[in-house]
Amino acid sequence: MTGGQRFHLGAGALAEAGRRLREMSPRRPLVVISRGRLAEAGEKLAAAGLLPPGSVFFHDFSVNPGWEEILAGSSVFRNADPDLVIAVGGGSAIDAGKLIKALARAENANPRPDGIRVRPGGPPLAAVATTAGSGSEATPFATFYVGETKHSLDHPALLPEIAVADPALSSALPPRLTAATGFDALAQAVESYWARGATTESRRLAKKALGLVLPNLPGAVENPLPARRLALAEGAYWAGRAIAISLTTAPHALSYFLTRRHGIPHGHAVALTLANFIRINAESGEDGESPPGEAPWLTAGREAPALLDRDSPAAAAAFWRELLRRCGLAATLPEAGISPGEIAEMVERVNPERLANNPVAVSRGRLIRELRVDF
Ligand SMILES: [Zn+2]
Repeated sequence: MTGGQRFHLGAGALAEAGRRLREMSPRRPLVVISRGRLAEAGEKLAAAGLLPPGSVFFHDFSVNPGWEEILAGSSVFRNADPDLVIAVGGGSAIDAGKLIKALARAENANPRPDGIRVRPGGPPLAAVATTAGSGSEATPFATFYVGETKHSLDHPALLPEIAVADPALSSALPPRLTAATGFDALAQAVESYWARGATTESRRLAKKALGLVLPNLPGAVENPLPARRLALAEGAYWAGRAIAISLTTAPHALSYFLTRRHGIPHGHAVALTLANFIRINAESGEDGESPPGEAPWLTAGREAPALLDRDSPAAAAAFWRELLRRCGLAATLPEAGISPGEIAEMVERVNPERLANNPVAVSRGRLIRELRVDF
């Protein structure tokens, strides 16, 4: 799935990618970037050659892109007829870039949100990650909202042809955003590891991501030294590669309600229930015991505490919450201002496909009970 992608990671990635784009000598690139990001990183991007002359800009998308915004972007795409698309920002900007290209070129003329027929080909997409988190630069997925409902598009043609993750771009990131996006990378790595859809390769990538992000996240929030930002940028990329294979699980499935209704940043929203699932997913048997013929995801679910360097599910769940607090984030649903009365609605709106990818099957009734424990 990632076979066709060129990626530029780490210090110097920006310059390398700029050289590659110059070689393509684009006539009219479409650049998807928020106004804020352009003001903050425009100089660096232009110096590296990532805002080529003749660029047409699209700025009008929000943090969780909505359908109307994607429609507006796709009409800018059609008018500009770009030969290159450059999306710069966090998951939102990169997802917007993917969706605008897909929608503008869809097989059906006026597609509905759940009926976009993606056509392969078209101008290459260069995804430039400025936050180390979503890993969207490494995946063929894109998320958007229609009202409060989350939709996602998943098609190999959405995978950016060029991915760039350079820590130089995350230097101006405020601590809370570094924390939230870092937790997205961590949750994606843990969920990918225990997902039903995991493979040997995706587990290897997930471990690699954890090894980079876990030891560096609190330090990067408190004092974002270049080496820490570098580890986060690379780790987020590998976590993206891991979920591109395995997809995410229950914490992601439950998160969309928290983001849309309460405006909780995506990475924080997924982290809020992950501790619950460390316990739930470890409950399929005794620690260290793998009955012959057991599904590999059940074994992986029990391995999550060890993955976090803790010796029991309770210790791993406590560690996860402590890490959230240390990074300045609410660690439980009540701390985040969710009322017990909202749990049923949150579960009602769970994303069923992602929930079905959780290693342990959990009914909606049990979900409600498990999530109410923290109140
Ligand atoms: Zn995520």
